[in-house]
Amino acid sequence: MDFTVSVAARELGERFRRWIAENLPPEWTDIAAGSVGEAQYASMRRAWGQLLHRGGWSAPTWPTEYGGLGLTIDEQLVYLTELVNAGAPEPLNTNPIGVLGPCLMRYGSSRQRERILPGILSHELIGCQCFSEPDAGSDLANLRTRATKVDGGWIVNGQKVWTTNAQLADFCYALVRTEPGSQRRAGVSFVLIDMRAEGAAVRPLTNIAGSAEFNEVFFTDVFIADDDVVGDVGRGWDVAMYALSEERTTGIAQRALRLRRDLGNLEALHRASAPPLSNREAARWEAEFEQLGVETRAVEAAVYRNLALAAQGEDISILSPMAIYTWSAAHQRLRRIAMQRLGPSAIRSDGPSGDWNRSMLFARSATIAGGTTQIQLNNIAKGLGLPSSRS
Ligand SMILES: Cc1cc2nc3c(=O)[nH]c(=O)nc-3n(C[C@H](O)[C@H](O)[C@H](O)COP(=O)(O)OP(=O)(O)OC[C@H]3O[C@@H](n4cnc5c(N)ncnc54)[C@H](O)[C@@H]3O)c2cc1C
Repeated sequence: MDFTVSVAARELGERFRRWIAENLPPEWTDIAAGSVGEAQYASMRRAWGQLLHRGGWSAPTWPTEYGGLGLTIDEQLVYLTELVNAGAPEPLNTNPIGVLGPCLMRYGSSRQRERILPGILSHELIGCQCFSEPDAGSDLANLRTRATKVDGGWIVNGQKVWTTNAQLADFCYALVRTEPGSQRRAGVSFVLIDMRAEGAAVRPLTNIAGSAEFNEVFFTDVFIADDDVVGDVGRGWDVAMYALSEERTTGIAQRALRLRRDLGNLEALHRASAPPLSNREAARWEAEFEQLGVETRAVEAAVYRNLALAAQGEDISILSPMAIYTWSAAHQRLRRIAMQRLGPSAIRSDGPSGDWNRSMLFARSATIAGGTTQIQLNNIAKGLGLPSSRS
């Protein structure tokens, strides 16, 4: 979708495009997760985060007082569009910058902000999000990891799971139960934990695409200081919900914009592939791509609308799951169509089609991570006053 932007946004986009052209190594473009080794992929994403920071181009949503770009909504969209059009990787700290940063600005102490914000921007400090547990994913309020009060701090015990980048992280932000015997959302605190501390252990989990970005994390008598609690003790649920709302507005924007590039890449492969298609076959694929183009633009429109409404302080609690739901469906369908069109060549790991197989497998997570499809549908149903699928 093309949208009208301010002159300032257009100029920013042109400057950013020139900067990307001069600074993004060509061998880093359009790299799919799992297509190079995990360590190489992570170090490329970290180096890209460092480059963006050194060039003064990181944290588009952060205010300038914290080292961000303080961009308006249309400037943010132009910024993200330039990154996507260039096929740039996501900086390694995308989640800490997008999710934890705004939380610390709103709920954190000045010491916490000074300790964490510059480090995650520069990528000297890598962070990860320890919310999910074996029995607390969709039902996050069932979390059991506990922190027991001791002199000057807390002792943390418990297990987290599916923690992206924990194997690389210097620290995590976690939800822990700080009131013994408390239930559900009460008595939960949002804390920062040093991942190198004695008693913190990380065990990688290999995903269906064969790479190991997420992990199990175990905390056994890990000490955290009083100053590691973000916001009030026992009020961490509010902090976490604020974090997740950030993830569900700005976090989805870049992924939505990426659909169009993915579709363009697939269409280019389709046109270049031999042998030539019969008219009937060609018409079939053109129709599929047209349909995907419509879905892609619908997702973009939903994301733009949500960003604009959120910036005006409007309630997007029904619209946000709708955008995530339509994005995840289109993201997976595009990859299914790619596999059908490219056939056996997409299963080979080398060659121009090779990444589509991994991408299709990795895309299974689109309907799980950040809230499953069923939970998104339940949230939409709740907002519309309909019964949920388990009520
Ligand atoms: C790639 C990836 C990266 C992730 N990274 C992180 C991370 O960095 N940090 C982190 O904390 N977590 C992370 N997660 C975890 C993610 O948030 C959870 O997987 C998600 O919340 C679902 O929880 P679960 O896996 O425990 O599934 P469950 O909640 O056990 O769900 C199992 C099934 O039951 C269905 N279901 C559950 N409850 C309901 C209901 N009320 N109504 C209808 N259906 C229901 C679900 O839709 C699903 O189909 C990641 C997950 C993935 C896939």
